[in-house]
Amino acid sequence: MARFPDHWMSELLSKSDIASIASEYTLLKPKGKRLWGCCPFHSEKTPSFSVTPDSQMYYCFGCHAGGGVVQFVMEMEKLGYIDAIKYLAQRVGMELPEEVDDDKLRKERAVKERLYAACKAAAMFYHEKLMSPEGKTAQQYLAKRGIDGAIATKFGLGYAPPGWDNLLKHMKTKGFTEKELISAGLAVKGQKEGSCYDAYRDRVIFPIINTYKRVLGFGARTMGDDTPKYLNTGDTPIFNKRNNLYAINLQKGEHNADLIMVEGYMDVISLYKAGVKNAVASLGTALTQQQARLIKRFVPRVYISYDGDSAGQNATLRGLDILSKEGLEVRVIVIPNGMDPDDYARKYGGEEYLSLKDKAITLNAFKLDSLMNGLDLNTADGREEYAKKACALLSELQPVEQERYISTVSRRTGLSADTIQRQCGVTPRVEGNIIGNNRNTKQKSREISQGPNKAEISLLSCMIHSPEALLYAMDKMAEYGIEFSADGLDEFATELLAYSAAGEKPNIPVMLSDLPGEAAEAICAAMSGDEQLVDPRATAEDCINAMARAQLDQRIIELAAQMERDNSDEQIKNEYMRLVKARASLK
Ligand SMILES: [Zn+2]
Repeated sequence: MARFPDHWMSELLSKSDIASIASEYTLLKPKGKRLWGCCPFHSEKTPSFSVTPDSQMYYCFGCHAGGGVVQFVMEMEKLGYIDAIKYLAQRVGMELPEEVDDDKLRKERAVKERLYAACKAAAMFYHEKLMSPEGKTAQQYLAKRGIDGAIATKFGLGYAPPGWDNLLKHMKTKGFTEKELISAGLAVKGQKEGSCYDAYRDRVIFPIINTYKRVLGFGARTMGDDTPKYLNTGDTPIFNKRNNLYAINLQKGEHNADLIMVEGYMDVISLYKAGVKNAVASLGTALTQQQARLIKRFVPRVYISYDGDSAGQNATLRGLDILSKEGLEVRVIVIPNGMDPDDYARKYGGEEYLSLKDKAITLNAFKLDSLMNGLDLNTADGREEYAKKACALLSELQPVEQERYISTVSRRTGLSADTIQRQCGVTPRVEGNIIGNNRNTKQKSREISQGPNKAEISLLSCMIHSPEALLYAMDKMAEYGIEFSADGLDEFATELLAYSAAGEKPNIPVMLSDLPGEAAEAICAAMSGDEQLVDPRATAEDCINAMARAQLDQRIIELAAQMERDNSDEQIKNEYMRLVKARASLK
């Protein structure tokens, strides 16, 4: 059942405290054995969301959301099971275990391992070429930009020589197939059927490495006037630029207070050379939610340091909103004279660059500045236009934040603070504009469900708390042929029985960790019940009877309908008679 080894799961869960993880999303206060807070899954004013540290579970008495820490992360971060486990593992710095039982997963992993191996071998090939006499022009090119051999090695930089099959030939001697090389983005299919050639030729190579120090793909820069200036690995089974950041591998274990987000590989490297070692680069796309989450795992604050000419563009600003929506504190570094970080760090040094951090402005202040682009505030038209745009932005902010910027806009436009305030009230919120800071209106998408079936929950509670009730219930359920309605609960019950038979205490948090959401909710509901179980065996009997009545009725109706259509099937008739008899024996 489990897709990760139990001992590994146990360690992960012991390090992933549900109370502290849930506290990142809602304020929890202790009362009795539990912690209580407003539910992060549905909107409410009085707390009905509870966390039980003892059993490492949460349960909401309002919307019936419930589970262990894995379900919490899955629901909160909208992740699948495997990704939720990865998220938790990364959070506590645990490597994923190698062995995975799931067959499909194992096959996928084997394919991916080949691609990782191919990218690593290619990175080594490119790096050797750069360091060899063959790489002389590339060395000179990098030297001109202040990059010496030590830095080139630190970043694993390389050189792809000119020619169509240098890498291909090398990789074939290492046992890689053309298909694998194409799949990893290292080679490209040719026009002619079955032909292929090197993806990168006569370019400087920047390997993109993830936090597990695996090479995923490459950026390749021309040294001349070829277009495009940068060629990047497209999506492959191991690489998706929307999920990664350049140089994030160097941040693991560094415990920096913040990261600096730049645009290009060269910005990261020049800053590093200048002693600023906490820069990462987006990979040529607008920032994504996945990248924001990646950053959030390392630091709470991020400084944006883009080129002067591109920072003010709408696409960029929208990307920055994603960062603050994920709860990161965002500041924008404004580099004088529209220089980029690479030029600035090389010209003035790291210290001077870092001093710009002190002058960094908030994202909203930066947006307000950007709105002036292309407007002439010396004209009445320009000022009016700016006032409208700025007020549209301000109207999206919380009143306390609004207050801070109203005087700025007033000063820039010559309009009174009062007028600005009124305009903020009337300006409609514009969809698709650069504005839109929804930090405080986190989407609460969960619908209030009916809650799991009451009889099933009571039965589960009896089964968890009493071995006698467990044995009785398993027997009776088999006899009547009834099942739990939520997927995974029957397996859960079987597992409980196995623990019980072995005389062991079940490890419920581990068992819970890979159950489907509905099953986990039911179990948490069962364990969150407050009523005392006086006679679990008798309660179990009542529950089984209630479930049996409902399920037998349903099956009898179905069989009757089948017999009406075709009355010749003896098997159906016998089954029908058996069920009717069983049903009659139930009160
Ligand atoms: Zn709730």
